[in-house]
Amino acid sequence: MDYLPIFMNIKQQSCLIVGGGVVAARKADLFIQAGAKVTVIAPELKSEMRGFLQQQKIIWYPGEFSQTLMASVFNGELPKLVISATDDQAVNQAVYAYCQSVGVPVNVADQTEFCDFILPAIVDRSPMTIAISTGGRSPVLARVMKAKLESMIPHGFGRLTELVGRYREKVKDAVASTEGRKAFWESLLDGLFIDKAVYGNSSEAATLLEKRLEAFGKTDLPAGEVYIIGAGPGDPELMTFKAQRLLQQADVVLYDRLVSPEIVDMARREAERVYVGKKSKEHAVPQEDICRMLVAYAKQGKRVARLKGGDPYIFGRGGEEVEELAKAGVAYQVVPGITAAAGCAAYADLPLTHREFSQAVVLVTGHQQEGGSAIDYGRLARSGDTMVFYMGIKNAPKIQAGLIAHGMNPDIPAAIIEKGTCADQKVTVCTLGKLTETIAKQSIKPPALLVVGEVIKVRERIQQAGCFTQHAVPYDASELLQKLAV
Ligand code: SAH
Repeated sequence: MDYLPIFMNIKQQSCLIVGGGVVAARKADLFIQAGAKVTVIAPELKSEMRGFLQQQKIIWYPGEFSQTLMASVFNGELPKLVISATDDQAVNQAVYAYCQSVGVPVNVADQTEFCDFILPAIVDRSPMTIAISTGGRSPVLARVMKAKLESMIPHGFGRLTELVGRYREKVKDAVASTEGRKAFWESLLDGLFIDKAVYGNSSEAATLLEKRLEAFGKTDLPAGEVYIIGAGPGDPELMTFKAQRLLQQADVVLYDRLVSPEIVDMARREAERVYVGKKSKEHAVPQEDICRMLVAYAKQGKRVARLKGGDPYIFGRGGEEVEELAKAGVAYQVVPGITAAAGCAAYADLPLTHREFSQAVVLVTGHQQEGGSAIDYGRLARSGDTMVFYMGIKNAPKIQAGLIAHGMNPDIPAAIIEKGTCADQKVTVCTLGKLTETIAKQSIKPPALLVVGEVIKVRERIQQAGCFTQHAVPYDASELLQKLAV
């Protein structure tokens, strides 16, 4: 290590900047943010530094740096830290020599050989601060690293740090041993609490912290939790950041048939993977068993990712699972996903609402659960809304007949989207009257969505315009090259 990284308390301490230009102003700003009393010696101030002066953030002594001026500025005392940032090498040298002679740490901007200390690049999530240094070798590389960390570490980490800081003493009072406190913080600063504090509501996070503190030591196992994650309709890139993050911290992953293998692969290598997929009729694992498994894993202290196709709360039985978790007192989070209707619409150039054609869209299940209420075809037929039928392939004849029997025009357009958003997505457009026939002819299989509505005409307009879709669906490259006349 070339330098010792330390964080120094300079609140209310005198610190000196020599220079009034842009570089000096950047350094002065750091001193100001750390609460120092900042003195600037320079013959003149450029705009940013002048701003600091107007806001009374600095004290300015006009003039060239000299030992005599120093004596009068600091009244015989010494500043805590000095930075020299002038473009006059003689001045920088004089500042350096002076600081060496009186033993005050000095930094000459951009000249490592004249530095007792260097300033790192900073990711500021105050009160958490991350400092990055290349030992003066490459400030640009340090800034590249800073940019990476800036995008990886949410701003809420500041809130999180503040919150745990507030509880430090309380935890000390409640947990006597150092080892115990370490175990408490380690179990807390992982998973749900971080999520609540960083992304959510601070008071909910504080309540959770208090609950965990109360329970700490009373049970041997850390509290497990369940993430009910919407994994989107197929294309792995449609997962949200949150879904990906929680999946990657899970110990166990329970996944459905509709979840792409690439998504399951995003879990940690050590994570246990459990397939609980369902095909219509043959339920691989009955729903009640899935609920029981989620509770059981969580009670073993595991972090469980429950991956579902699309969105958990749209024909995903997420509600039933959450009810069971809530009843069992298991902590959970639900992560919304892109539902098949939204995903397929986007990848098939098929807007679901449109000013000219449809003011509303209705998501309907084409598969009647035992004991579930029947589809109200009359209401659907009268509405003029875009209809999206999930799980509708098998019952397409009933859907077609039901809508037509209630007065819908058989010539209204219908679309069938098979394996939407996946590389082998297939879109077939026909009419409501030809729906069943088309499904049979094209041997369309689930998972597929049925869309019925005038809005499908917009797709035809888009496609006639002849552009290429930007989506993952493969196209013939030779055709592309021809069109581009390459
Ligand atoms: N929770 C899921 C829906 C689960 S129900 C969601 O929000 O999307 C299963 C039905 O969703 C399938 O029968 C099919 O109708 C539809 N579906 C799911 N993924 C699909 C896809 N990639 N392409 C077309 N339809 C899909």
